Amino acid sequence: MLSYRHAFHAGNHADVLKHFVQVQLHLYMNQKDVPYTYIDTHSGAGVYALDSFQATKTGEYDTGIGPLWNATEVPAPLKPYLDLVKSMNPSGKMRYYPGSPYVADQMARLDDRLRLFELHPADVKILHENVRKAEAHKAEQGERARGKRVIIEHGDGFQSLKKLLPPPSRRALVLVDPPYEVKDDYKKVRDALEEALGRFPSGMYAVWYPVLQRMESRQFPDKLKRLPAKEWLNVTLTISTPGPDGVGLHSSGMFILNPPYTLEAMLRETMPYLVQVLGKDSGARFTIERGTQLTGAASARLAGEGPRAPVGNARRASPLSGKGSLRLPGQSMLREGEEGGPAAKPAKPATPAPRRAWRPDGNAQGKPQAPASSPARAEGKRPSDGGPRTAGPRPGSRSGKR
Ligand code: SAM
Repeated sequence: MLSYRHAFHAGNHADVLKHFVQVQLHLYMNQKDVPYTYIDTHSGAGVYALDSFQATKTGEYDTGIGPLWNATEVPAPLKPYLDLVKSMNPSGKMRYYPGSPYVADQMARLDDRLRLFELHPADVKILHENVRKAEAHKAEQGERARGKRVIIEHGDGFQSLKKLLPPPSRRALVLVDPPYEVKDDYKKVRDALEEALGRFPSGMYAVWYPVLQRMESRQFPDKLKRLPAKEWLNVTLTISTPGPDGVGLHSSGMFILNPPYTLEAMLRETMPYLVQVLGKDSGARFTIERGTQLTGAASARLAGEGPRAPVGNARRASPLSGKGSLRLPGQSMLREGEEGGPAAKPAKPATPAPRRAWRPDGNAQGKPQAPASSPARAEGKRPSDGGPRTAGPRPGSRSGKR
């Protein structure tokens, strides 16, 4: 079943969280002068036009990039992401939004390699076209990679991940971002990561996931915590309290296995701001937790906090988890020196390096398309607790649906 089309959701709060974190992961990978392979198991179309039929039908960008577009006093770690989005909209009008392949194309260096998987026949075609334009633009700028820098495969990303591991340079950043339309996706993510870690334990793996009431979603982070990675970091962003009907996507997370040691500080500096700008009601919040794989540790006690349930057999969560609300972001579990605290140190801003952007054109899903045989809204859904959903709100509405 391939009904999901990301064009309906481009630029929403979940994309903001995902792509902001993705940018930070690239910046970290770029610090070392050894090329890496970026693997995108679920690539989507690469670029999205926010004036397309799909995007305007749901108006989901209004829960994410919309409110951020003109935001001021942006925390330093968020700037490279916003600069990247703005660089593809040089007129200053918010028209295009990057998908993860575009983010990777801009952030990765010429010697790095991009391996992109997409199953939907229409989206893989658009992705090819977007990558072709990106490469043509780079060639115009005199930037030529040796060999094939970007390879797109029309195939199953879950199945294909293992083929690419370990990568030739022994460095990899993997993004796993399936639609979770079917319950099976949760298990497939876990299984694919287990196999990937077996083949390449030192890779950096980032998983986006929806935070929903359904059991698979609630149990998902704990299942990821039990994977055999040395360290993990889990960040969630909630923009509002779910309604009684349970419909819509109000919260999502990024779970990173083998995260950069710098990431937590970046998140602590940025997440309260995202809650403040994107939050819709008092249910808006963020959480950050981190853990390591321990050998033989039995204690579940956390330094600096009260006792806490263990998250896995041989693991414990770090004492650094925090929560934020609209009123007092990050305050509830503040420790001295953390965000908002007197000794808080802003994380050093990483140098943004998005290259001069190529200009996507209206073919990047910009043209209105007739709905498929089933209504287009059926294509636009990510799962919610309310089962198959109706279309999202019109632009201007503040409740994002995914
Ligand atoms: N990562 C993209 C981004 O951030 O711009 C968005 C990806 S979207 C959430 C999920 C994509 O996965 C959809 O385009 C869908 O067609 C594709 N897909 C679904 N199942 C897949 C599979 N098994 N292998 C590869 N792609 C798949």
